[in-house]
Amino acid sequence: MDISVVIPLYNEAESLPELTAWIERVMDENGFSYEIWFIDDGSTDKSWSIIEELQKKNARIRGVSFARNYGKSPALNVGFMRAQGDVVITMDADMQDSPDEIPALYRMITEEGNDLVSGWKRKRYDPLSKTIPTKLFNATARRVSGIHNLHDFNCGLKAYRRDVVKHIEVYGDMHRYIPYLAKNAGYTKIAEKEVHHRPRKYGKTKFGLDRFVNGYLDLGVLWFQNRFGIKPMHLFGLLGSAMVVIGFIATLVVLILKIVSLCSEGYNFYVTNSVYFYLALACMVMGLQFFLTGFVGELITRNSPERNNYLIGNEI
Ligand code: UDP
Ligand code: MG
Repeated sequence: MDISVVIPLYNEAESLPELTAWIERVMDENGFSYEIWFIDDGSTDKSWSIIEELQKKNARIRGVSFARNYGKSPALNVGFMRAQGDVVITMDADMQDSPDEIPALYRMITEEGNDLVSGWKRKRYDPLSKTIPTKLFNATARRVSGIHNLHDFNCGLKAYRRDVVKHIEVYGDMHRYIPYLAKNAGYTKIAEKEVHHRPRKYGKTKFGLDRFVNGYLDLGVLWFQNRFGIKPMHLFGLLGSAMVVIGFIATLVVLILKIVSLCSEGYNFYVTNSVYFYLALACMVMGLQFFLTGFVGELITRNSPERNNYLIGNEI
């Protein structure tokens, strides 16, 4: 099978028939063999019954319906587990992404040998309150992830080699960083294609401004996992050592001042009045905590089934 289209959706009933007809038309015009996976993320409108209707007319349409709303990432994950096509294409259900992009995306994977191609909505039809923070967000994501050629990490329209989606685990809200997940899994041929974006035709957006706070926190988590995920002591040990060194120097200062004050007549030094005493106390306690966190982290890592997963490029 050439293509699996994976579409996560939450209350998008109005768009579904139109979107499906459009995808079918593009697939037929280009002679692709395909399947469409609708992952209904606990919709409370008529989305699921519409998917059932569509499936009766076209057996290449498949669907999964969650018992409740889990989020876009879990929906994508379930779609990725089921997808069979050589190329997997994800798109949003709200018709902001155009199925006309599918043939070019497909070729960028099969002919140009990319692992992942991400859409870039160069001209966006979203409110300013979303486009400006998005620019900042993408600039940070580029820096932290080291994927410098992507303008739009979170574009819903993306294409993958099947292998890629089988080796990444999208969870929580990590759909914003799939290129980073792919890169960390060893898939480094990541390209971008400018795509047409359209205003939302039906329904309303499912994400509020909290997306930016959560987005940054998740980026921190991925950065940490990538840098120190299997060697947490390298971070916590460094911080712990720094604290202990500062604490030790402060203790020495306290000791020396006390000895000096005991030996001299006019100079009175009270340990508990000294800023160095509190510095020594705080640094020693924090240093110990960093070390303990590092040790516990190492024990957890030791039990992680993924600690020895490497993507082998070549072998002779
Ligand atoms: N979506 C989902 N589960 C959710 C929220 C959103 O499956 O909990 C789907 C939604 O139906 C749409 C896609 O994810 O197909 C992108 O959502 P939306 O269009 O609201 O995001 P925006 O375009 O505003 O970034
Ligand atoms: Mg949208």
